[in-house]
Amino acid sequence: MTIRSIHMNKLRNVGFWVLQTTWCLLQNIAGALLFLCIPKHRPCFVYHKAFVRYWSLSYSMGMGNFIFLTDTFGRDADAESGKILPTLQHEYGHTRQSLLLGPLYVLLIALPSAVWCGLPCFRRYRKNKKVSYYCFYTESWANRLSGKYFKRLLSNWQQKEK
Ligand SMILES: [Zn+2]
Repeated sequence: MTIRSIHMNKLRNVGFWVLQTTWCLLQNIAGALLFLCIPKHRPCFVYHKAFVRYWSLSYSMGMGNFIFLTDTFGRDADAESGKILPTLQHEYGHTRQSLLLGPLYVLLIALPSAVWCGLPCFRRYRKNKKVSYYCFYTESWANRLSGKYFKRLLSNWQQKEK
């Protein structure tokens, strides 16, 4: 690693946190408040700079730079290699949306996603028509962003290994 790349990494880190505390402030305040409401005994960890905590609800969600994971698969599972990994990476896709959309994230992603996930009429629609939860634009876009992000990381890592 060169001095120049170390400086670039530091600059990227500073830029990331400046964006999180300005451009993404609204959803991060909501995420932080929710994060603090979850009992402290529930495991939490940092995943690619996002704060992750398990909760007792049957679904997972992202809010800004905060991710809330269902403990349906067991809280003690190793999140980065266990059954929860696809869910964790999907939710990380929502954190990427938050970075891209900033203050529009709540209006364009969080609210429509909550309606699509939670309203009984949409649950019935998905069940009766056999429609995937992930076909809704908020969800399919999160999957695409997450896929691109982790693929790029893997390819950067493989280039460094050579
Ligand atoms: Zn989602």
